[in-house]
Amino acid sequence: MLKKLSKMFRRRSPTAVNEPHIISSEQHPLSPEQISAGARKVVEQLSSDGYEAFLVGGCVRDLLMGLKPKDFDVATDATPEQVNQLFRRSRIVGRRFQIVHVRMGSEIIEVTTFRAHHTDKKNNRDDSRRSSKGMLLRDNIFGSINDDASRRDFTMNALYYHPQDNSIYDYADGLPDIEQRLIHIIGSPVERYREDPVRMLRAIRFAAKLGFQIEDNTAAAITKVHNLLADIPPARLFDEVLKLLMNGHALVTFHLLRQYQLFGILFPATEEALANDPGYYLPFVEKALTNTDIRIRSGMRVTPAFLFAALLWPALKELSKQFEQGDAPPLYALQQAAGEITTRQCQRVAIPRRFTLPMREIWELQLRLPRRAGSQAFRLLENKRFRAGYDFLLLREDVGEIEPGLGDWWTKFQDVDEDKRQAMAESVQQPKNKRRRRRKKTPSSKPAHD
Ligand code: ATP
Ligand code: MG
Repeated sequence: MLKKLSKMFRRRSPTAVNEPHIISSEQHPLSPEQISAGARKVVEQLSSDGYEAFLVGGCVRDLLMGLKPKDFDVATDATPEQVNQLFRRSRIVGRRFQIVHVRMGSEIIEVTTFRAHHTDKKNNRDDSRRSSKGMLLRDNIFGSINDDASRRDFTMNALYYHPQDNSIYDYADGLPDIEQRLIHIIGSPVERYREDPVRMLRAIRFAAKLGFQIEDNTAAAITKVHNLLADIPPARLFDEVLKLLMNGHALVTFHLLRQYQLFGILFPATEEALANDPGYYLPFVEKALTNTDIRIRSGMRVTPAFLFAALLWPALKELSKQFEQGDAPPLYALQQAAGEITTRQCQRVAIPRRFTLPMREIWELQLRLPRRAGSQAFRLLENKRFRAGYDFLLLREDVGEIEPGLGDWWTKFQDVDEDKRQAMAESVQQPKNKRRRRRKKTPSSKPAHD
């Protein structure tokens, strides 16, 4: 279907966002019933009040590709205040980029006012503000639908669908790019990344999710300006990291992030540790991400605490080694290293405390799980992080970080009845405490002087 559609028009330059190619109802596979009832109602209400309103972005792109959209976004020429007035259950959210959340039953529809470029010197600072490096700190300059299309990130995301006339409006040749499976930024790539460096992460996310190639210029510019990602507030990067890694394509995403030198900006200590890989760091991270993908695709729960624990494990190991060399006992070294790694990581990607605390418990369990003689095994089994700690241990064993055996022991311990557990726990030999004795600095240990 898409192949036929793209033959209908000649490709224009991606910087030229002019009049749209209009694809009428009989020429495309979309139908209004595929749009959520809430989103349809929002578009209908806005249209009947005389505003322009369309479905836009990922929902149109995904439906054209036969995928289930994650959400339905509406774009309109009504201002946020006008939208807010029109819908009783709505509220304006965001400062950098104002949008309106309209509640329709259990759905929340994001309604965005058409944006324009920030060229007019008379712009109000409350609506338009840039950093010294060109990053848009406020992006609330409103414009026409043509302006809006040119302000969208990729050509495939600048498709507008009107459920009432059942037509698609393609402003930036998104359809031919979808057909060629290309992620193609609109406008000058470097400039668009400067305005919002998160677009580099979005390019990677879509490449992984859709299996698309990143078009050459769109890709080459990332290598030039990847460092700009470090200027994004850590709280926004946390949200973006979750979108990148909790969508069922974490492994591919991880490799792409490394390929485009973006991973080292998001996880500097891990990237550094990977350079010193004793052989199991990379397989460990890959295995953890593969498991995350499998769990997400089969609808199982995944906690960001486990994901971050795995991603930061190589960094933690490297730092703990340094602390241990300084004579600290392993658990103390791990706790010190955990504190430092977490603090440093949160300066780049702000992981909330509700995830850093369990993350650190998962790490500590790695030193506690071997110490399972007698009643300790029963206490560990009742620990509220036991399951996560045990899964983490299995991963470490799988990639050869630790000798095989301990994982099996815990698997069996969970499976057998109480009497057998008792016998298992009693027959365990407690591992030797590796704590090194401090050498006392007595006068006799000093070199003798004449
Ligand atoms: P998905 O919802 O599947 O993650 P999406 O493309 O819908 O993908 P959203 O984050 O929901 O992504 O954004 C909706 C639309 O808003 C995008 O399709 C794009 O047109 C526009 N958009 C989002 N973020 C940006 C950005 N940083 N720069 C420019 N346009 C953007
Ligand atoms: Mg979306």
